[in-house]
Amino acid sequence: MEPIDALREAGRIAGKVRDTVVKEVKPGVKAVDLCDRVNEMVAELGGAMAFPTNVDIDHVAAHYCSPYGDITVIPDKSLVKLDIGVHVDGWIADTAITACFDPDLRYLVDAATAGLDAAINTIRSGIRAGEVGAAIEQAIKSHGAKPIRNLTGHKLARYVVHAGPSIPNVSGRDNHLIMEGDVYAIEPFAVPLSADGLVMDGPPSNIYRFIKKRSLKGVSKRMLKQIQGEYRTLPFASRWVIRRFKGPEGQAAFQELLKTKCIMSYPQLIERTRAKVAQAEHSVIVTGDGCEVTTA
Ligand code: MN
Ligand code: MN
Repeated sequence: MEPIDALREAGRIAGKVRDTVVKEVKPGVKAVDLCDRVNEMVAELGGAMAFPTNVDIDHVAAHYCSPYGDITVIPDKSLVKLDIGVHVDGWIADTAITACFDPDLRYLVDAATAGLDAAINTIRSGIRAGEVGAAIEQAIKSHGAKPIRNLTGHKLARYVVHAGPSIPNVSGRDNHLIMEGDVYAIEPFAVPLSADGLVMDGPPSNIYRFIKKRSLKGVSKRMLKQIQGEYRTLPFASRWVIRRFKGPEGQAAFQELLKTKCIMSYPQLIERTRAKVAQAEHSVIVTGDGCEVTTA
């Protein structure tokens, strides 16, 4: 398959899964069931997971994924970000949507969505990333909210989710030139004006990534081989691995991979003032006079 076709197919699958599963996000539903549902649907549609599904509740802006046996449920009056990554032959689509269960927070969802729309209407070949950031910031502010300034959109490359250049969510940062054919995920985050608008590292996310090979023995050796072969440079969930390597032996092997730094763990990203966060995200292919949204 040509890269452009794989990008479009990944985007089509990610968009369809997002729009289906977001309807199943409701107070009382288990986060792990939503994560599993995404995996199941992506596989049915012929895609593969580009990273573990994030179910980020309230002040958690990014990187919460259910561990094995997670009992977390969607709370009442919450703001829930569902962030999905799909790849086809390594070509990635990254998209997110926010479910809102408090009418008083609806403006945050509208602000994030308006920021994303403004970015999509601004981005084209030859523009500076900072100009896109300025458009996002202005749109979010016009809805009476503010962007999170230390979270950004990012370039997507084959088997790489965060490939260097970023798309800021505010003006005056990162002024690299955007080129035709570039693939970016654009993801504004909106918080109330009273919030800091900054994230900090929180508890572990249950999202991991392969770092390096080492000579290991037994279950650890087989586990690392499976991880490297199946996920390559893409993030994966501990749940996916623990389901294959069951029992205390599997748990011990996973801990050994962490201790020997063969794999690394991502932290959750938490809004510093614990403000509630809304997010909207699409992946785009930059064209001469605009962009093609793959995850529409
Ligand atoms: Mn995302
Ligand atoms: Mn992203």
